[in-house]
Amino acid sequence: MANFADISYVTFENGVKLVGELRNCPNCNSLFLKTNLRDVCENCYKTEQKQFDVVYNFIRKSENRMATMDQIVTATDVDEDLIIKWIRSGKLRVAGLPNLGYPCDSCGTLIQKGSVCPNCATNIKQDLYKAEEEKRRIQELRKKDRTYFLEGNKRK
Ligand SMILES: [Zn+2]
Ligand SMILES: [Zn+2]
Repeated sequence: MANFADISYVTFENGVKLVGELRNCPNCNSLFLKTNLRDVCENCYKTEQKQFDVVYNFIRKSENRMATMDQIVTATDVDEDLIIKWIRSGKLRVAGLPNLGYPCDSCGTLIQKGSVCPNCATNIKQDLYKAEEEKRRIQELRKKDRTYFLEGNKRK
């Protein structure tokens, strides 16, 4: 949880103010200003940019259009987690790259956006609907029970 001491403002020469929180970089543990645009320190960000370019240039080639995650990791030497992060955030566009994606949180099918595949999304929606129905049914039953109880009391 952030407290006031963590919040920092950086004012650039052109007057642009950046608000962020001082955090330890998840990669190298050095202190940096975390913003909505930056989730690692400057050094790691630069390294990450270089790695991104390598991956981007690799998948851009038409002969690599069918490449799988494993093939890309082997060819570029970039961490799978990092590539998945880029796909999830939309930084790395994978439309037109049928074999590239990350596993659905629920069943493990390869997906390219969101956190679950369309199938699981439908199932989850149905489950939610069923749960809602069940809740309503129980509430109805309880209401009836109370009515009987009150009427029973009246008759006494
Ligand atoms: Zn770092
Ligand atoms: Zn799924």
